[in-house]
Amino acid sequence: MKRYSAFAIAREAFRFHSGWERAWKSPTPKAEYDVVIVGAGGHGLATAYYLAKNHGITNVAVLEKGWLGGGNTGRNTTIIRSNYLQDESAAIFELSRNLYEGLSQDLNYNIMFSPRGVIMLAQTEHELRAWKRTSHANRLAGIQSEMVTPERIKEIVPIIEIDGPRYPVLGGLWQERGGTARHDAVAWGYARGASNLGVDIIQQCEVTGIDKTGGKATGVQTSKGAIKCKQLCVVVAGSSGVLADMAGFRLPVESMALQALVSEPIKPVLDCVIMANTVHGYMSQSDKGELVIGGGSDGFNNYTQRGSFHHIEETVRALIETFPIISRLKQLRQWGGIVDMTGDRSPIIGKTPVDGMFINCGWGTGGFKSIPGSGWATAEMLADGAPRDLAAPFTMDRFKEGRMIDESVAAAVAH
Ligand SMILES: Cc1cc2nc3c(=O)[nH]c(=O)nc-3n(C[C@H](O)[C@H](O)[C@H](O)COP(=O)(O)OP(=O)(O)OC[C@H]3O[C@@H](n4cnc5c(N)ncnc54)[C@H](O)[C@@H]3O)c2cc1C
Repeated sequence: MKRYSAFAIAREAFRFHSGWERAWKSPTPKAEYDVVIVGAGGHGLATAYYLAKNHGITNVAVLEKGWLGGGNTGRNTTIIRSNYLQDESAAIFELSRNLYEGLSQDLNYNIMFSPRGVIMLAQTEHELRAWKRTSHANRLAGIQSEMVTPERIKEIVPIIEIDGPRYPVLGGLWQERGGTARHDAVAWGYARGASNLGVDIIQQCEVTGIDKTGGKATGVQTSKGAIKCKQLCVVVAGSSGVLADMAGFRLPVESMALQALVSEPIKPVLDCVIMANTVHGYMSQSDKGELVIGGGSDGFNNYTQRGSFHHIEETVRALIETFPIISRLKQLRQWGGIVDMTGDRSPIIGKTPVDGMFINCGWGTGGFKSIPGSGWATAEMLADGAPRDLAAPFTMDRFKEGRMIDESVAAAVAH
């Protein structure tokens, strides 16, 4: 792989950009791999990358039914933060946030990580108490976050209306090192890195069946033929239930569309991410100038990967109270992605009831920020055949054992 650098750009400028090579290879699938990963979203690609980089396991295929990053990874609102309530979540999200800080250098690919800060507003007494509790938990876990006053919030976000009629701003939880990154670039960067280390990334290859011999997963049926493997790892977010069904078990996960929209581009007005969970909406400004606005999930289970009309009014109406200036903006586009929600709003990383088959799912509305840490932990699990410390709390057994990692406060709308 040729390295990207200022020198490379200058060199290519002199030869009419004829020397760039494809960022990742598109090989025809081999008959057999050591590891087959289903799903080329951020989590599947990061898993493949760290398997190769950290564990030297390179006989790996990532199978993707569409195009890489075309699922939730390319549809999210890119918020990155680690100020979760429970220790188990804080550990994996903070590892992720840390990895994000150096990811452009590690991958030699500009993922446009922008640690612009994330404020989670408290607009009710209950929310204020919840964020205070989270900030104490964060301090104990060694994670930077702090409570800020309404006046300080007004300084950071001049367009905010802190004395709103129904929901005045009472305070906020501020994580200064949180922010955003370019979502496609995260998928593309991991794909390029993994491909360079020898991983086969196969797009337009839908897994249609899971082969088992004596209760053990031995391969997959795909739209490009059968592929055998020693280990199978399913990382398909909203389609996890469908893949589990193919393997003959059920997951404690519900799938539904989560909604987002962007405004027309305007001059810079907002240089952090701001989340208003009580009124149910959140916002940041993209580098192009669009206000990126996230809403809630559809109130019913579905696999429709598209925008729901009623969410535009619901979300914008809610946000206008706190950010009156957005009432004068035009909407540019709207979309949805199928998220996979667990009962405690924490992910599942672990073995499945089928021997040799592993799963990483349940990141729901908040798994963009966790891509590096999740890939790291899933690669450890595949290398060892069992989850290590980081992933161990997130196995599926917790739903049987009543060992929930309750992040419902953090994940209801707060991505
Ligand atoms: C509107 C929206 C806003 C969000 N905002 C945020 C946010 O601000 N911050 C945050 O942290 N998170 C956010 N999220 C959540 C985040 O996007 C997801 O948790 C994360 O992207 C999941 O990544 P993934 O790799 O697991 O799944 P995906 O990116 O969905 O990848 C799964 C892949 O599996 C493929 N696949 C499915 N079935 C098959 C099959 N049978 N065969 C082969 N391939 C298959 C799909 O095509 C897809 O490409 C948001 C999500 C949405 C939808």
